[in-house]
Amino acid sequence: MKTGLELYIHIPFCAKKCNYCDFLSFRTLPTVHNAYVRRLNEEIKYYSEICADRRITSIYIGGGTPSLLEPELIVSIMKNIMENYDVEEDAEISIECNPGSAMRHKFAAYRKAGINRLSIGLQSANNEELKRLGRIHSFEEFLKCYQCARMEGFSNINVDLINCIPGQTGATWKKTLKNIVMLKPEHISVYNLIVEPGTPFFRMNECGLLELPDEDTDEEIDEFTRSYLKQTGYERYEISNWAKPSYECRHNIGYWTEKEYLGMGLGAASFFDEKRFSDTRDLQKYLELDFFRKDIEKELYSEKKELSREEEMEEFMFLGLRMTRGISSTDFLVRFKVQLESVYGDKLKKFTDLKLMEKDGYRYRLTDRGMDISNLIMSEFLLSDENTEVKSRNY
Ligand code: SF4
Repeated sequence: MKTGLELYIHIPFCAKKCNYCDFLSFRTLPTVHNAYVRRLNEEIKYYSEICADRRITSIYIGGGTPSLLEPELIVSIMKNIMENYDVEEDAEISIECNPGSAMRHKFAAYRKAGINRLSIGLQSANNEELKRLGRIHSFEEFLKCYQCARMEGFSNINVDLINCIPGQTGATWKKTLKNIVMLKPEHISVYNLIVEPGTPFFRMNECGLLELPDEDTDEEIDEFTRSYLKQTGYERYEISNWAKPSYECRHNIGYWTEKEYLGMGLGAASFFDEKRFSDTRDLQKYLELDFFRKDIEKELYSEKKELSREEEMEEFMFLGLRMTRGISSTDFLVRFKVQLESVYGDKLKKFTDLKLMEKDGYRYRLTDRGMDISNLIMSEFLLSDENTEVKSRNY
């Protein structure tokens, strides 16, 4: 029986950089798109031999903006994977699209190539908010894009939204969410805006020019999101993700449950054969790679490392607590040969007493309130300051 593996393919190009974005993506000439996909296809081929004993359970083409590419390029990537890997018949195969660059003929090509899930980056149904975010599309363009996707037969669609946008009010957020739910997508992702260093929003914030919603609006938005999505048949299964029953994103669940994945393309991260590594983030270097060279790994990876025991424990907590089903103390014991409570007992008690976590049998999970402030909670599960203590325990 072959071991399962997820594939992630990174397309780092965008028509324009959004004001909040710190992803590895940039604008470049279409000739570079062609050269990049040529190299990417070589990388896909290179790994196919290493993955001969693996069965591919999901493929995710993300970015950047994969839909910016000419559809023939996406088709060539898919063809290459299908010909060289053992892809499960019912594998979930997703592609990310921007409503400003997705057209009906592209969707037709994606379907033909075997892609069965779309993730459309809308972010807001309010055109003023879209402009503030620096998005290249309007809500009306999104509607057209969504309709085309349905007409081409896509029956598994995610819509990405962002809340706590500068200038956003409880009322504009409610309108956005209601407009999207009316379309009945199978999956909705809702991310809280984070002002990341190096972005235009960060610089504006430094100068006091960014009017972010206050705490009360923030709470109103979170509360409405939870109750409205639940009431309309969406189940929250992760901090930022809601789905109709059986439409949870299998690929992302794989990340959160520590399944192995192989990332290909600029800066793509992998967890493969118990090692974590990432491709180079330097585009010029990537374009010059020679995948036929024996020592290609030295050139390809920007870093490769094995996690320490403490880092593995931290990761178990961070990833597991993202999911609404939480973490199992039995899984922790089986994996680390130590009781969860003997490592994290004081934190678990603290957050349970504060009603930010709850215990149900062998499982611990974040409550709704805990999910809203998950970043603060997760930071307390870092073991780095307690390394000595953990190492001195008798495993
Ligand atoms: S489209 Fe997505 S990846 Fe591209 S700049 Fe905007 S947020 Fe970043």
